[in-house]
Amino acid sequence: MGDRHSAAVAPPQLDPAARRILERVEVDGIELVRFLYADHGGVIRGKASGRSRLPERIGTGIGHTVAMMAMSMLDHLQPVEGMGPVGEVRIVPDPATFVPLPYASGAAAMLSDLRQLDGSPWAACPRTFLKDAVALLGSQGLTPVAAFEPEFTLGRRLPDPTGGPDRLVPIDDSLCYAAAGFDLAHDYTMALVRALEAQGLPIEHYYPELGAGQHELSIRPATALKAADNHVIYRETVRGVAFRMAMWASLAPKPIADQAGNGAHLHVSLWDADLERNLFADGKGGLSVLGRRFIAGVLAHLPGLVALTCASVNSYRRLRPRTWASAYTCYGTDNREAAVRICSPMGGNVEASTNLEIKPSDSSANPYLSLGAVLHAGLDGIRRELDPGKAVMVDPDTLSAKQRARLGCERLPASLGEALDALEADRLLMDALGPLRGAAYLAVKRSEAADFAAQDVAYETFQHLRAF
Ligand code: GLU
Ligand code: MG
Repeated sequence: MGDRHSAAVAPPQLDPAARRILERVEVDGIELVRFLYADHGGVIRGKASGRSRLPERIGTGIGHTVAMMAMSMLDHLQPVEGMGPVGEVRIVPDPATFVPLPYASGAAAMLSDLRQLDGSPWAACPRTFLKDAVALLGSQGLTPVAAFEPEFTLGRRLPDPTGGPDRLVPIDDSLCYAAAGFDLAHDYTMALVRALEAQGLPIEHYYPELGAGQHELSIRPATALKAADNHVIYRETVRGVAFRMAMWASLAPKPIADQAGNGAHLHVSLWDADLERNLFADGKGGLSVLGRRFIAGVLAHLPGLVALTCASVNSYRRLRPRTWASAYTCYGTDNREAAVRICSPMGGNVEASTNLEIKPSDSSANPYLSLGAVLHAGLDGIRRELDPGKAVMVDPDTLSAKQRARLGCERLPASLGEALDALEADRLLMDALGPLRGAAYLAVKRSEAADFAAQDVAYETFQHLRAF
């Protein structure tokens, strides 16, 4: 038996990526490596390996109960067949995702799959769901590229003076895109930017947003799995940096009920197998037929899809007209009230910047399930050669019910419960999820809908700002 307290010694069978990790652990003085995954409640959870066990744990993973994928965002365990008290999976890290955590000295993280004891992927592993969706598109010669564009609220978590649940008190009340907002949150923002860049997440844009304490900082697009991994790292970093500075940050859709919501608009494009050509670009500055079919697929499945992309009870406070979050199933070029916005390409970079923005998407979603489901929906539109109809170039809420009906423009589900009903009725999405994942997802999310229905808004916002 080796010395338990010795430094990480690499066994000879380790692959080169794992060897590089062990070298970095030594050089950076890492003591704990978090193996992270996102659950059906959308919560990022995990277990950490000490460094002496790391050489084996990189390969074997860490043991975990199957029941955790039946846990809601309130930590209420749901009865799901196959996720009872008996049964074990492994949280198996992807060595390519190893990253020291700039906001947590001595710690690093890896994004992980949930695998069965024989090493094969578990039917409820969310990261595998996205990998499978990517492989399905790959079999058609398509490579999805994506980016989540998250907003968050920065503040302090303070007790409610009247004895209710804790509240998020925003750090600033600067105006939308107002220069003062840059200064009021500057120390935090710089720490965040440096922490994200240090983890290999290149910053695209940053600005103070409409809501009090609300900020938006976007990351460059990446291939789909990396984009979802990036979003997990991003969520962890936004909160981790705030916690270190004795603040609280929340990416919940509506952490403060009367303020602007936090979206995580999802930008998607499909490229060829070699990532050389953006197949959404028509070569004339517009969207290709493939892109139009993708839109049609997303719109056709949107009522059920939002149960995965806007995945919490709190999400449905955000999806309302005149909030630029979208409330109807329609698309338009640069239409900020449309569920799918065709983004006008940027001059000088027209082909690469042609992409679709899906607005009903927020950070309470499990990014692997949400992006994977969007890809399935879009691919369905491509396979069935669907047409998205006419672009809507006004706020759809200003149209009459008749005009909307003519355009095939429907109100998005008004609650998580409605969205779950639509998801359950959506054959394509339920088949894509598969029986175990589908049943667990519905059970977990239905329990959240029921739990919050019995509570007030202060409880709901508190639980969401705590979880996300
Ligand atoms: N905060 C809005 C949302 O909830 C988005 C505003 C914007 O267009 O940046 O989606
Ligand atoms: Mg924004």
